[in-house]
Amino acid sequence: MKTLVEALSAQRACACGCHALLSAEERTRGVHALYACDDALRGFGYEANYERSGDALFRAAQQRCDPACRTVAVRFGECMYKRLLGSLLHELLHAFFGEQDAPNYGVPWGLPYGVPDAVAPADEAAFLARFNESEARAFSGVWLVGKALFGIEWNLRTARDVGTYGFTGGNAMVAVPRGFRPVAHLDRQHHTERYYARARAIEQQALAWFAEPGSLASVVATLREREAAGREGRTEKRPPAGDFGRMAPRKTFMHDACICGGTSPYGQCCARLSAGASAPISGLAR
Ligand SMILES: [Zn+2]
Ligand SMILES: [Zn+2]
Ligand SMILES: [Zn+2]
Repeated sequence: MKTLVEALSAQRACACGCHALLSAEERTRGVHALYACDDALRGFGYEANYERSGDALFRAAQQRCDPACRTVAVRFGECMYKRLLGSLLHELLHAFFGEQDAPNYGVPWGLPYGVPDAVAPADEAAFLARFNESEARAFSGVWLVGKALFGIEWNLRTARDVGTYGFTGGNAMVAVPRGFRPVAHLDRQHHTERYYARARAIEQQALAWFAEPGSLASVVATLREREAAGREGRTEKRPPAGDFGRMAPRKTFMHDACICGGTSPYGQCCARLSAGASAPISGLAR
């Protein structure tokens, strides 16, 4: 387990270059937002793990299917101001829309590419639809809530440019934990157009929900209330956000863990991918 303060203290430049693209004032706002999100997740009764290998941590949790798990992998690589913040907001929205007493917000661990064994094959699509809907809200709401709660104007990042959905009707199959059955689904890489068409349709519905009077305000009010509760329960002391906002990221060496959160060292992973570019860390558009 790594805490937010530990992660921020050892921060390194990420591939998206957000540290360099944002001003110190914006980064400080970002750290304030990270602090608040961390407290809010604790206020919902979950504990965020800031180890950078979030994908591996999530897969391990999925394999364990632990009904008592209250830990959430929130960090996917070094990116602090876009990806980590986007990820925390996404998790908070899952907590808001989900079952807060259950692990993984009540989303069964084998979803979205599998269903519990007990679900009849004819009911797969209907079973998944409910979870797809909450994923669409948790995806679409990230930028709205980031702006409403913290005045974040820059483009936050999530896992990808679309939510992670289980759409039946394709032929892709992936391994799922015990107790679940893999579902033949539309794969984003191979059925790109069909996947995105269905994804954008439910994301439009999610945005329509956020546009209804009172929706966004109720999310903001609940997250503020959970933040206050989580602050009470926090034992870790935190430096002023500006200390991290002004901090220069540590240099990444070839043998360091990779900035993307993958398992290979930097020299054998992202440093290779960017070899030939003038600088290893190149800025993308904000
Ligand atoms: Zn970044
Ligand atoms: Zn999600
Ligand atoms: Zn990498």
